[in-house]
Amino acid sequence: MDVRTLQSINLARILKEPGTAEAEGIIKETIGAGEELLTLQGDADWSVSVTSAGDEFWLSGEVHGTVMMECRRCLKPTPQPVNAYFQHLLEFHPEVGELTLVQNEDDEDVYHFGDPDLDLSFFLAQAFALAMPFTALCDESCKGLCPVCGADLNVVDCGHVQADAVPKALSDLGKFLDEV
Ligand SMILES: [Zn+2]
Ligand SMILES: [Zn+2]
Repeated sequence: MDVRTLQSINLARILKEPGTAEAEGIIKETIGAGEELLTLQGDADWSVSVTSAGDEFWLSGEVHGTVMMECRRCLKPTPQPVNAYFQHLLEFHPEVGELTLVQNEDDEDVYHFGDPDLDLSFFLAQAFALAMPFTALCDESCKGLCPVCGADLNVVDCGHVQADAVPKALSDLGKFLDEV
């Protein structure tokens, strides 16, 4: 079987009769999240299943991959593993053009869709982005960038930063405050 790079699942069968539909595939290079495109290292894998429950459908799925983030100190591209899981309630409304988020009578979030060939790219990207860490560090001991000239202090010693300059000033301040 060819590996699917299309991010969709066909629900035509379970729109006619109760049941479950499943799909899986891979995402190559980038994954879209809002305006932003996140860069992947290698392929991300995803799988989803959709189960009919009366007029509604339960979508559940997962996506696993490695995203490239900037180290928060030196800005170097830094791979971060991401494991995302999601569940959503869906309703089929043939008149709906784009996927629409609606609140039902029970105050639950329900996505209305109109195309039996459900586009999953929004759900996959949203779950992936939410599961990402807020920041990344290339290494616990990353020295970061020089605040004066911007040099990567992991690579060069530009001579601008004395390693103990800030801690010494702070400890002097601490002593001063103790004495006051
Ligand atoms: Zn770094
Ligand atoms: Zn410098």
